[in-house]
Amino acid sequence: KAAVMDGVNVDQEELLSSVPSPTVKTTFEKIQSDRKTLPVYPYREELLRAINDHQILVIVGETGSGKTTQIPQYLHEAGYTSRGKIACTQPRRVAAMSVAARVSQEMGVKLGHEVGYSIRFEDCTSEKTILKYMTDGMLLREFLGEPDLASYSVVMVDEAHERTLSTDILFGLVKDIARFRPDLKLLISSATLDAEKFSDYFDSAPIFKIPGRRFPVEIHYTKAPEADYLDAAIVTALQIHATQPPGDGDILIFLTGQEEIETVDEILKHRTRGLGTNIAELIICPIYANLPTELQSKIFEPTPQGARKVVLATNIAETSLTIDGIKYVIDPGFVKMKSYNPRTGMESLLVTPISKASANQRAGRSGRTGPGKCFRLYTAYNYYNDLDDNTVPEIQRTNLANVVLSLKSLGINDLLNFDFMDPPPSEALLKALELLYALSALNKHGELTKLGRRMAEFPLDPMLSKMIVASDKYQCSNEAITIAAMLCIGNSIFYRPKDKQVHADNARVNFHMGNVGDHMALLKVYNSWKDTNFSTQWCYENYIQVRSMKRARDIRDQLEGLLERVEIEITTNPNDLDAIKKAITSGLFPHSAKLQMNGSYRSLKHPQTVHIHPSSGLAQVLPRWVVYHELVQTTKEYMRHVTQLKPEWLVEIAPHYYHLKDVEDLSSKKMPRSHCRSTKD
Ligand code: ADP
Ligand code: MG
Repeated sequence: KAAVMDGVNVDQEELLSSVPSPTVKTTFEKIQSDRKTLPVYPYREELLRAINDHQILVIVGETGSGKTTQIPQYLHEAGYTSRGKIACTQPRRVAAMSVAARVSQEMGVKLGHEVGYSIRFEDCTSEKTILKYMTDGMLLREFLGEPDLASYSVVMVDEAHERTLSTDILFGLVKDIARFRPDLKLLISSATLDAEKFSDYFDSAPIFKIPGRRFPVEIHYTKAPEADYLDAAIVTALQIHATQPPGDGDILIFLTGQEEIETVDEILKHRTRGLGTNIAELIICPIYANLPTELQSKIFEPTPQGARKVVLATNIAETSLTIDGIKYVIDPGFVKMKSYNPRTGMESLLVTPISKASANQRAGRSGRTGPGKCFRLYTAYNYYNDLDDNTVPEIQRTNLANVVLSLKSLGINDLLNFDFMDPPPSEALLKALELLYALSALNKHGELTKLGRRMAEFPLDPMLSKMIVASDKYQCSNEAITIAAMLCIGNSIFYRPKDKQVHADNARVNFHMGNVGDHMALLKVYNSWKDTNFSTQWCYENYIQVRSMKRARDIRDQLEGLLERVEIEITTNPNDLDAIKKAITSGLFPHSAKLQMNGSYRSLKHPQTVHIHPSSGLAQVLPRWVVYHELVQTTKEYMRHVTQLKPEWLVEIAPHYYHLKDVEDLSSKKMPRSHCRSTKD
């Protein structure tokens, strides 16, 4: 204890001079002493020695031991930043931002100066930045501009156990540059204990274990499977809250996404309202990727005395973010997981049971500061017999087109022999190559074309990059980048408050006037907003999320910058609907579908039955021919973001892909009304 106190005093003296105001000083001091209580702190010197002695080091430690926030600072304090920046990658956007904010606070600097973050379409760094937290995808993109990462002295691939697609690709790339850059230090850090796999992959790199502090966690299972896990989670949380003394610990509930979190938030608010004053206050803190930044920090605020916090989180709280003070974990046992069928090109985001490894990580969140309890809303039998041991790495269940394009533009041609830790299914690789070839990004020999090189400049789905590059020909690059930017925002443009659904739907219908299709509707939303000089009031009136629109504007600005890089002029052709639709078709043509007699669609190239997503403006219109952006499987196989087209465009735009016989409208006589509404759903 004395040693810790001594340490604090020394630091206070050092820090006094640099601290501006007395109030800042005390929180700053508190933060500095907190840093010294983290599990990694006693190993600071030993760790620095190991890093000094080895080029590649695998670091393993429990979530919350201080890997992400402390190790880059230790390296900075030890002088590594005088030779170059330190990169620390995170699989999640929110984690990169949140951790950078925390570290800038610990170092007493402004976020974006010495400590910054970089996520897709948002660069919060400057020339001053020496500690750069970034998504793994962003570091991947940095390779395109700087193939040897010369401006970095250390690369820390953090949260390696998450095994995201980008992390897995980074493994191969950093392993390669480490060979010809002996001065580069490589840290692979992970929260789970199966570090041997990482070590084996990185030529038997030594493993540095940070002993964790883990308190016992009592696991409770349900006796029978729960029919409604949301309801079960809410009831469990309220029971804990009502029966356990306030102040003894907070609750963390793992949910699968924003929608579930909002539902649970609402129900909890409603049910606690009626509880009366003899029950302590329950503070509800949601955390998910799209949550506005200023609300994200709420989960880290200490719980006021006499109250209890309940954190509603996605998987992000499993290992990426550490929330102090959690004593109870409620684990329904599900996660929203992407899967991909390379044969059909169908991507689905399905609520899936978690793995045992995940379940154990989740349980561990309750035992960080004291003994904890984890309530698994599934049976012990389920746990032992039904859950997989580990989550399948993303590379084995995703569309690879984007990554393949990036690798090709890095000059990595032989993908089948790329040094993957776990190789993707060769079918998925071939499917990606096939798509890139169809888009003319690759030639017959699988080599990058000039077009492909330009497409690779855009951090987008290759089909959207192709749409942008092709828009040059149709003199509508202005419209194409707006559409791409709006598509990047995804589903969070329109909102539909429960008490004003009719109004919201009416407002929305306006943008779909003339059945122009979803891409044109998005364009219209953006342009209308722009015409009001980006008015917030206008967004309110039209049930559109201002924040999403602002983000779309930022993304659009960046895409405009990239246009310049690939030497495409900004051209605009707002009144020629066909020209814009042809540009869209130039990117999306591999995803075309044709209406069937029964109101479903049949995709042209790899025939399968699909439907227009109910959220589409064309869901009731059912045009004969459409192209779509993506295929998602929820209750049915749905096309999302759909545009109507003339079939002859397919042959005109992609003669190498479609022939006249593909688009001949044989059934037209049998179906006189193309606007027939033949199904009820
Ligand atoms: P690890 O990477 O090993 O999981 P971190 O370095 O992320 O651990 O976290 C170490 C500690 O830093 C946490 O226990 C928490 O107390 C604190 N911390 C991290 N991020 C934040 C934040 N955004 N706000 C407040 N405290 C934080
Ligand atoms: Mg971490």
